[in-house]
Amino acid sequence: MDDCIFCKIIKGDIPSVKVYEDADVLAFLDISQATPGHTLLVPKQHVADIFAYDADLANRVFSKVPLIARGIKAAFPEMKGLNICNNNGEVAYQSVFHSHIHFIPRYSQQDDFSIHFGNHTDQYDSEALEAIAGKIRAQLEEN
Ligand code: 5GP
Ligand code: ZN
Repeated sequence: MDDCIFCKIIKGDIPSVKVYEDADVLAFLDISQATPGHTLLVPKQHVADIFAYDADLANRVFSKVPLIARGIKAAFPEMKGLNICNNNGEVAYQSVFHSHIHFIPRYSQQDDFSIHFGNHTDQYDSEALEAIAGKIRAQLEEN
């Protein structure tokens, strides 16, 4: 992908601050440093988002998540938690369309990173939940 910023980083055409590399993945510091140590893990193969992975690529990429997470935790003993995010699609805040996993170390609830999970429990009864799950199950059974 000639116009992909992460492919350029992987090729070395654009500089990055690397934290881990193997045959399948590169991990480097996110330029925005949402919190100190904010790291991105990317497949070396260009895939736009989670929907483009096959099982083998997913295994080679996502199996590295605990390794990177433990490395960040050990490097920042003051870290209290870690958010791991993978944004897919513009509406889900994806801005670079080369799949990547964010590792965002958390130091306190005032560390300038937040996620809001709306709570709509009272809008769903068991029948409504079963209908939703049934739709998803039907797709998974087809594949
Ligand atoms: P997204 O919004 O797609 O989930 O995340 C893309 C991330 O890539 C952003 O957090 C942004 O700061 C980071 N980013 C964008 N361009 C560059 C770059 O040239 N170098 C680095 N290291 N990070 C980048
Ligand atoms: Zn790419």
